[in-house]
Amino acid sequence: MNVLSIQNLSKQYGAIQALRNVSFEVPEGSVFGILGPNGSGKTTLLGIVLNILKASSGTVLFYDQPLTNDIRKNIGTLLETPNFYHYLSAERNLAIAAEIKEKGKENIDAVLQQVNLYERKKSRFNTYSLGMKQRLAIASALLGNPDVLIFDEPTNGLDPVGIAEIRDLIKRLAATGKTIIMASHLLDEVEKVCTHVAILKKGTLLTAGAVDEVLQTEDIAEVAATNM
Ligand code: ATP
Repeated sequence: MNVLSIQNLSKQYGAIQALRNVSFEVPEGSVFGILGPNGSGKTTLLGIVLNILKASSGTVLFYDQPLTNDIRKNIGTLLETPNFYHYLSAERNLAIAAEIKEKGKENIDAVLQQVNLYERKKSRFNTYSLGMKQRLAIASALLGNPDVLIFDEPTNGLDPVGIAEIRDLIKRLAATGKTIIMASHLLDEVEKVCTHVAILKKGTLLTAGAVDEVLQTEDIAEVAATNM
């Protein structure tokens, strides 16, 4: 079963063609990397998938259907750093996020456990490391226990420890059966974390498929390594 089916997607910003006829499918249970250098169209693609942006042409289907509000509720997102309150605890910040997102507060402890922050839930946000802050952002995406997660460059700006923590968390979430779609400009990140990949270059899809297969193709690996 495909969680996501992207068909002939194009996006034009005035004279700039951000996406050109992009098609690929995201299988259920995959960790799906959207790999490409800055400006290749990753954020635009995620924006269209989530109905934040309108495509110039093409279609996006979730479980073979157009994105409805009901389906949208079942997708957890991390698109940019959420505005947490620096002087409030992690727990209180998540309670506020749950209120804003209209998600139940009953699973806040479970979510904090999932991201390994339960022991520090009473600590103020401003005492957290960068990696912990990002794990709290992922905790916020996990409110309501969505089956599908969409992260835009989740390790961007983090120190090596934070990066390792986030990659490990993504793998653990995938092991619980969630489908994770993540943009990245790092080939080695996709190799380490993802099961599947779509490679974008200047808005065009170079290739998509299982990481083992796609990155074994020498010329693709070379293009990806030199351009990301
Ligand atoms: P980054 O990693 O830098 O965010 P990206 O792969 O996510 O890059 P996009 O942000 O989707 O790429 O940008 C794709 C292209 O579209 C770029 O050329 C960018 O300058 C352009 N673009 C993005 N948003 C807009 C906008 N609102 N108006 C005009 N051009 C835009």
